[in-house]
Parts: sequence; C-alpha cells; structure tokens
Amino acid sequence: MIRLENVSYCYPDGTPALTNINLTIRKGEYLGIIGRNGSGKSTLALHLNGLRRPQKGKVIVKGIDAGDFSKLQEVRKIVGIVFQNPETQFIGRTVEEDLAFGPENLCLPPTEIRKRVDRALAEIKLEKYRHHSPKSLSGGQGQCVALAGVLTMEPECLVFDEVTSMLDPDSGETVLRRIKKLHEKGKTIVYTTHNLEELHVADRILVMDRGRIVLEGEPENVLSDPSLKDLGLTPPSLIELAEQLKKHEIEISWKNTSSPSSFAEELCRLFLKT
Ligand code: ADP
Ligand code: MG
Repeated sequence: MIRLENVSYCYPDGTPALTNINLTIRKGEYLGIIGRNGSGKSTLALHLNGLRRPQKGKVIVKGIDAGDFSKLQEVRKIVGIVFQNPETQFIGRTVEEDLAFGPENLCLPPTEIRKRVDRALAEIKLEKYRHHSPKSLSGGQGQCVALAGVLTMEPECLVFDEVTSMLDPDSGETVLRRIKKLHEKGKTIVYTTHNLEELHVADRILVMDRGRIVLEGEPENVLSDPSLKDLGLTPPSLIELAEQLKKHEIEISWKNTSSPSSFAEELCRLFLKT
C-alpha cells in the first residue's frame, strides 16, 4: 500500500538522513523499523505521509504521489502518525475537543465528528477522560489520546515513531497492546523503536543504519542476527539466552522466546524429558 522508490533525503544543514531507500509496505502488515539514534527512522516515518518530501525518488501511497503538495490532505487521511512526545500535538482544552480537531479539519458534519470521537474514545478505552485536559494526563494516557486522535481520521495505516521511549514500562505495554489490537482489526502498522524487546509481534523488521536499510526479514531471523550488536542494537534478552543455549544443544523454539513464562515452561519440558 506504500512504496518508496530510491528515496533520498538530506537536511538543509547537509546531513544525509536517507540514502536510496527502496521499500514496499504491504496492506495489513506489522512492520518494525529499528536502528540506533540518528539512523534515519524518524525521517523515514515522516516521509510516509508527506510531512517530509523526498529530494530524490518517490513515495507512493495507494497510488498517490505523497510528494505532491496538492494531494497532501488525501495522503494524510490514509496514513496517520503518532510521535514520541504527544504533548506537542495537543490542541484542545479537553480530550474530547482535542479528538474532534482532526475530523473538524476534514469539514465533516457534526454528527459524524461525534461518532468518530466516541468510537476513538471507546477503542482506546479513554471514555472516562473525555472531559479532562489532555495536558493533565499521565504520559501513557497522553500517548493513548494521541493515538485516539489519529484514529478519528480513520487511516488505513498507522505509523508509530518511538512512541514508548518516554513512557514507563507499564504504560508502554498498554500502548503496545492497543497497537496490537488495531493490527488484529486490519490496520497496517509501521512501528519504529530502538527497543528490540517490542518487536516479537511484527511480521517483518527493517534495520536502518546511517540512512540505509542494512538488514530486513522476519523477526525470528533479524532479532537473532549476530550483526545487531555492531549496529548499536541490543537483541531481546530471551532471544540472546536462546542463542546461548543453542551452543549447549538446548533448542528453545522461537515462539517461546516471547515471554519469560513460556521460555521457562519450554525449558522445564525439555529437562523433564531427559
Ligand atoms: P532516528 O529517528 O533514527 O534517530 P533521524 O531520522 O531523526 O534518526 O535522523 C537521521 C539523521 O538526520 C541524523 O544524523 C540526525 O542528526 C539528522 N537530523 C534529524 N532531524 C534533523 C533536523 N531537523 N535537522 C538537521 N538534521 C537532522
Ligand atoms: Mg527518531
């Protein structure tokens, strides 16, 4: 549904942020993008809905050229972005007002706006904060409001750029669960992070380094790739442990590396057998 063809982007100060990116994002997939700080993840995310336009190459969103200024509104209805720091995105005095802002901009009739706001509040389980000021909420709740705000636009594709990096682990997990639910309902998800622990759920992972895609594949292969450390990334601890155990001829299956409890259960099963 989104295609990047030979995309390159350089910031005005001369920093090359993307170099010759070729990428197809399929409808309904959960794509993880990882890479150390400065590797180009945010710049790539911003290209997906026209917030940045490629200096070379093309970004095509469902057949529309996202670099064409006159098509920007159309592209933003298809692809929504949630950023690291939601506070910078709040406009309304209350959560409800804030959520209405996007659909108001689309000039939708009031009944439709109301319907969309109610639906987004229910989807993210925020009903009871409807009349709160978004700035009074905790980091995790704020991030959920930002997510609900994007949902009111009813985009097919949601891009999350390091959305959990400023949250405590519990709130981070809540946000991740909401994202997983949205994926199960058919949304296309693009999720950038430098925390590899968050990507067991992805269908596919890209690794970026210095503005280029340096590795790509299924999580099972990418997350256990020996080159991750050289790329400044820390593999998920359970996957690392499984790799170490492999050297002792103890095989833990990929699906059981997703949580300590399933890892422990498999380990017990193996030892009770021997
Ligand atoms: P990431 O999200 O992976 O940390 P970014 O896309 O933010 O990477 O950055 C890619 C490169 O572009 C880095 O070298 C960064 O310093 C530079 N960069 C990012 N934003 C700007 C900006 N607004 N102006 C100049 N350089 C920038
Ligand atoms: Mg970034």
